[in-house]
Amino acid sequence: MLAEIDIVIIGAGVVGLATAREIAQGGKEVFVFEKNRTFGLETSSRNSEVIHAGIYYPEDSLKAKLCVEGKNLLYKLCDKHNIAYKKSGKIIVAADENEISWLEELHEQGRKNGVDDLVLLSRTELKKLEPNIEARAGLLSPSSGILDSYALLKSLYSQAREKGAEFVFDTEVIGIERAGAKYKVQIKDRDGISVFTAHVVVNCAGLNSDKIAQLTGIDIAKAGYKLHYCKGEYFSLDSKYRNLVSRLIYPIPEQVGHGIHWRQGLDGRVLLGPSAHYVDAIDYTVDETYKQYFYNSAKRFLPFVELEDLAPESAGIRPKLQEPGEAFRDFVIAHEKKAGFPGLINLIGIESPGLTAAPAIARYVGRIIDELFD
Ligand SMILES: Cc1cc2nc3c(=O)[nH]c(=O)nc-3n(C[C@H](O)[C@H](O)[C@H](O)COP(=O)(O)OP(=O)(O)OC[C@H]3O[C@@H](n4cnc5c(N)ncnc54)[C@H](O)[C@@H]3O)c2cc1C
Repeated sequence: MLAEIDIVIIGAGVVGLATAREIAQGGKEVFVFEKNRTFGLETSSRNSEVIHAGIYYPEDSLKAKLCVEGKNLLYKLCDKHNIAYKKSGKIIVAADENEISWLEELHEQGRKNGVDDLVLLSRTELKKLEPNIEARAGLLSPSSGILDSYALLKSLYSQAREKGAEFVFDTEVIGIERAGAKYKVQIKDRDGISVFTAHVVVNCAGLNSDKIAQLTGIDIAKAGYKLHYCKGEYFSLDSKYRNLVSRLIYPIPEQVGHGIHWRQGLDGRVLLGPSAHYVDAIDYTVDETYKQYFYNSAKRFLPFVELEDLAPESAGIRPKLQEPGEAFRDFVIAHEKKAGFPGLINLIGIESPGLTAAPAIARYVGRIIDELFD
């Protein structure tokens, strides 16, 4: 079918979809290959659906910049395309006295990242906003919210298609070989294996993105591209807890995750999560033995929660560049020209806040592609 195409995107998660939309809007030919039967069946539909403000990440990191830009783009996108969301606001709480200095640090970090609406709350101010929360102090982020992630994925897909992007499902990219100034891309579908040529390859393969980079011949260990899977599980709370809290409530962040938070979805259901622990394989079952851990974490600031009201819900897996014990790692969004692969764009380690940042990531990649076609 496809002898030669301009741009191929590998992966139809939120990042691949947003990027396809961006490129197609610019009038370029783009094909998206997705190994699953449809878009968004992996990490993009296994997350908290939170529109993050951009507080946690080091100043000038891609995570900070693209989260702040992405948040603003996302709210506009939701308004324009009737994607359901709620700008509920979020409060990070200090459960005890020792944690208050963390709130001050996060306030300062947020300010440096351009999140200029954060408000430190005393215990009394916090109680006025959320009477059912028990904490010493809080940091209010009014611009945080929650969205219908499936509606976002569907809208990005429809918009990309309307602008001419082609999607090929049930098709796995299994080989990529440099051929002069182009790439030979090998795909496997139900009819077998075929090969076509692409000028530009954009790797948006999520949990597989390091393996895709490796297929091209990049030494992923040397490049620092090896991914580590970090599982996040959710437990649901009984429906009697609905509407007891009106904002997203987060604890002080942990080294590898944002901590077990309270999140009431647009459907009214309350979830606690996600946990954060490294795993060797992709397995989405929820381990019931974590129930006590979830309960203990939540009980610190949600005193009304009872153990018997927690039930295992769902899980997602973070594609982390950060090894266990390692310090912060940023998103990799790299045009691999210097590594000897002009026209290959790798997106690796697109963990949280990747959902929020997706429209900004797409713009970033769009600018790289514009330069390539100049
Ligand atoms: C527990 C958890 C909670 C999170 N919470 C939030 C949050 O509240 N807010 C936020 O902003 N972010 C959040 N995130 C992060 C966010 O979900 C991700 O950053 C985002 O979904 C990544 O999207 P993606 O398109 O890169 O990856 P994916 O959604 O994983 O998409 C990659 C796609 O590539 C396809 N693919 C892989 N290999 C191949 C191949 N060889 N050929 C063809 N196709 C291939 C896969 O099938 C998949 O569909 C969370 C993540 C987790 C795990």
